[in-house]
Amino acid sequence: MKRSVAVAVLGAGHAGLNAIKEIRKVTDDWVLINGGPLGTTCARIGCMPSKVAIHLADSFKARERFGRYGVEGGDGLRLDPQTALEHVRDLRDTFVDLVLANTTDEMDEAHLIDGYAEFIDARTVRVGRTDIRADAIVVATGARSTVPEHWARAFGDGILTVDNVFEQQVLPASVAVIGLGPIGVEIGQALRRMGVAVTGIDHHSTVSRIKDPAVNGAAIDILQREFPLWLGHEAQIERCASGFRVRSGEREVEVEKLFLALGRQPNLEGLKLDRLDVPMGHDGLPRFDPKTLRIGRLPIYLAGDAAGGIANLQRAAEQGRIAGWNAVQRKKRRYTERTRMAIVFSDPNVAFVGQEWDGLDLEHTAVAEQRFGPVGRALIMGQNRGLLRVYANRRSGRLLGASMVGPRCEHLAHLLCWAIESGMTVQRALEMPFYHPVIEEALQDALIDLRRELSSARRARSLFFRPRVQAVSRT
Ligand SMILES: Cc1cc2nc3c(=O)[nH]c(=O)nc-3n(C[C@H](O)[C@H](O)[C@H](O)COP(=O)(O)OP(=O)(O)OC[C@H]3O[C@@H](n4cnc5c(N)ncnc54)[C@H](O)[C@@H]3O)c2cc1C
Repeated sequence: MKRSVAVAVLGAGHAGLNAIKEIRKVTDDWVLINGGPLGTTCARIGCMPSKVAIHLADSFKARERFGRYGVEGGDGLRLDPQTALEHVRDLRDTFVDLVLANTTDEMDEAHLIDGYAEFIDARTVRVGRTDIRADAIVVATGARSTVPEHWARAFGDGILTVDNVFEQQVLPASVAVIGLGPIGVEIGQALRRMGVAVTGIDHHSTVSRIKDPAVNGAAIDILQREFPLWLGHEAQIERCASGFRVRSGEREVEVEKLFLALGRQPNLEGLKLDRLDVPMGHDGLPRFDPKTLRIGRLPIYLAGDAAGGIANLQRAAEQGRIAGWNAVQRKKRRYTERTRMAIVFSDPNVAFVGQEWDGLDLEHTAVAEQRFGPVGRALIMGQNRGLLRVYANRRSGRLLGASMVGPRCEHLAHLLCWAIESGMTVQRALEMPFYHPVIEEALQDALIDLRRELSSARRARSLFFRPRVQAVSRT
């Protein structure tokens, strides 16, 4: 069968759905093709169910503070993992229903096509037996968990990923979490708090992708109070009677299951991009303009996780809107990266905003830090562990970035991100109102230190210049 439309969008995640919103403003001649279950990665297996699990695991963990408050019986509390997992799935279903109700539920069969698409040429995609010719195509096919093929073949029955972990009816007694980026840390900690014996392994020496070495050290100190972190060595796996024996350097552990969090890779292979005659980059992505999102000179646009880079829902949605607009409008819109922000919803949160440590010109950067130990609000919450480091340009005094591990850093990260995005200096940020007693006072203290550091740098610069002036006047 053959069809012809103005625009075909591949993938009904946040990127694809936002592309459709823009396209619909101009034409009704579009199709949305989605392979796999509807409901978006965010609602089905990503942002939302993971946060439900984290929230319930954190709530259960709070019992450890009860004794201090004079609340008895905390030690006797038990978490029923089956009910906990049902709760995750229930809320997950609610999130999925909300997405569907607002998007694909009202689409008819002519517009919404179930199936995986592949390119026939730059203007034609095939889904099942239907060839669809489109004037423009938006590729928003998302990404999937990386599972090395040899591990999938050898240990497939024992591998958990975000795709299936919350589908389990019972939780395993023990798990090796391999890969300690944001997903590994979030899910590893949640599983530990739900009663699973967790061993975290990563061949890097960082957790949660933290680049600032002081913040990384603080995060490792905090996290490994709950479960061992084996860093710096590849994981080697073999089967054993109890499940799997996992080695990392000199250490080894026997576990029932493996939770793989090795990153996510764009869903591009099945699309047969080789039929498009576009150059491919080393990252496996077709060369595309990161601003217009257009692939080469073809009428094809790439958006969301399919376009690589850091997976982020707001970014996927924004790219979807731009790709959708550009697919139907003559005057093209351009995607501009805003101040970068990443939040890991571990307890305590990890976050970084703006420039990261490895991108800073340290000679021209002032750095101030604040530990959460003495921060009043953090003490009240019984969560006064962590470190905040803020960076500013020595000459202009402008805020450049920050890295942190600490309580409610998700909010500090937003505050700082907005300040950086609006070009604030340290002085201007300190002129903003602060309340008391709040976590934001940790930021206020760090900014006061940063201002001190900046003014001593300024003094040092003026001292450096003064003798030369004096020398000139003496002659
Ligand atoms: C565990 C986890 C936690 C996360 N937490 C956060 C968070 O806290 N904050 C945050 O901002 N982001 C988070 N993310 C990332 C965020 O969920 C993603 O960036 C976002 O959902 C990507 O949207 P998308 O539209 O690009 O892709 P998706 O939502 O994955 O949509 C792509 C769709 O395309 C379909 N498809 C694939 N191939 C084809 C094909 N050939 N033809 C047709 N359809 C196809 C897929 O089945 C899917 O339905 C998390 C992700 C995960 C996995």
